[in-house]
Amino acid sequence: MKKIALHWQIVIALALAFAVGLWANFETEGMEEKPDWFGELEYFAGFVGKLFLNALKMMVVPLVTTSIIVGIINVGGERNFGRLGLKTLGFYAATGLLAVCTGLLLVNLIQPGEVPPELEATMRAQGAEADSAKIQGAEKNAEDGFRGILEIFQRMIPANLFDAAVKGQLLGLIFFSLLFGFFVSKLPEKPRKTQLRFWESLNAAFLAMTKFIIAFAPIGVLGLVIPTLMTTGTELFEVMGKFALTVLLGLGIHLFVVLPLFLKFIAKENPWNHFRAMAPAMLTAFSTASSSATLPLTMDCVRKRAGVSNKVTSFTLPLGATVNMDGTALFECVVVVFLAQLFGVEMGFVTQFSVVVMALLTSIGVAGIPSASLVAIIVILNAAGFNPEQITIGVGIVYVVDRVLDMCRTAINVFGDSCAAVVIGKTEGESGYYENLVQGQDESEEKEDLFA
Ligand code: ASP
Repeated sequence: MKKIALHWQIVIALALAFAVGLWANFETEGMEEKPDWFGELEYFAGFVGKLFLNALKMMVVPLVTTSIIVGIINVGGERNFGRLGLKTLGFYAATGLLAVCTGLLLVNLIQPGEVPPELEATMRAQGAEADSAKIQGAEKNAEDGFRGILEIFQRMIPANLFDAAVKGQLLGLIFFSLLFGFFVSKLPEKPRKTQLRFWESLNAAFLAMTKFIIAFAPIGVLGLVIPTLMTTGTELFEVMGKFALTVLLGLGIHLFVVLPLFLKFIAKENPWNHFRAMAPAMLTAFSTASSSATLPLTMDCVRKRAGVSNKVTSFTLPLGATVNMDGTALFECVVVVFLAQLFGVEMGFVTQFSVVVMALLTSIGVAGIPSASLVAIIVILNAAGFNPEQITIGVGIVYVVDRVLDMCRTAINVFGDSCAAVVIGKTEGESGYYENLVQGQDESEEKEDLFA
């Protein structure tokens, strides 16, 4: 019997999770005390989901470090190293800017914050109620306003590498690995080759482990999505519908129009092939709402299913998972202007322009974990002149619908990184992308032999 392709397995799991999660949600709607089975289902599904999430997270630090080190040792000695770096950052800046502008345009056109007074009262009440520990924590982290943005850049150079790794601060880890790889590439031939072989074999072992873990993605997705949907308040979407729609429309335009244009006209590839190649990673990003946790899968899809070289993926993807968040930047921008409309905070052209810049800058520092953009949003609201009460209530309002939007924007974040890898790989003269996929050999062996 023909094996069902991984992305279809995940789609089926996701559909099942939606059915079960929403059924449990509606079945117990309005109940003061939930029945026993509800708690049991939430616990056991959550247990399975957590196992999968932990396994993915477990691979992030080893995979990021070894991939970057191997990638940079390979290209560090070449003259085109700087060019590769500049191209990558240029692509990230351009797509990020386009995403924010799309968000800004839509939120000004749709005006989701212009609501009738009675709806505004409901929203405010819900916002005040949602004042959970998470929001307070985010507020504390963002107290410093503009300095918060600078702090992000400070984290780039960690005082203690292991501390950064333990805290999952990828930016610091990336910086160290880039520097280390670069200086290894400058070593005399013999020690350089020894180092390369060592890091390559380590990386190959980590990739094999990742592949093993990915096989469990359908079960993991089931476990992650069921509890999320069981506990998501659906009535809030009625109130927040216009806002959620603005965000989703913006994300949709970025996903289906803007990024495919780059694939079509710069990479000269068929965007549909890329969607197919990236489906497992995007579905996992959607289920986990964490681009960091999805990184092992993203790397696997871009290398094996899309066929981009190790050299390009090892550099662009870990960096992208941390600094390139198109969906997040778009979301931040829509939220800030939406809240300004809701609270009647005046936002002239100059303020809106500074929101664009801040959304771009803060999205660089937002960690690839669920709801991480709340901190960035508070930083921007502070800087844009909202008062503390408006900030607390405003973030509360957004928080109640955040999870589902987070799932969507994370999928866009991951897709954006993967497009960067393809576009940059193609402009570096690579070819033969998607051949495995087109020939129906999704899971075939890597094109590039690591030890050749
Ligand atoms: N959850 C997002 C990510 O991991 C970050 C965010 O927008 O909150 O990419």
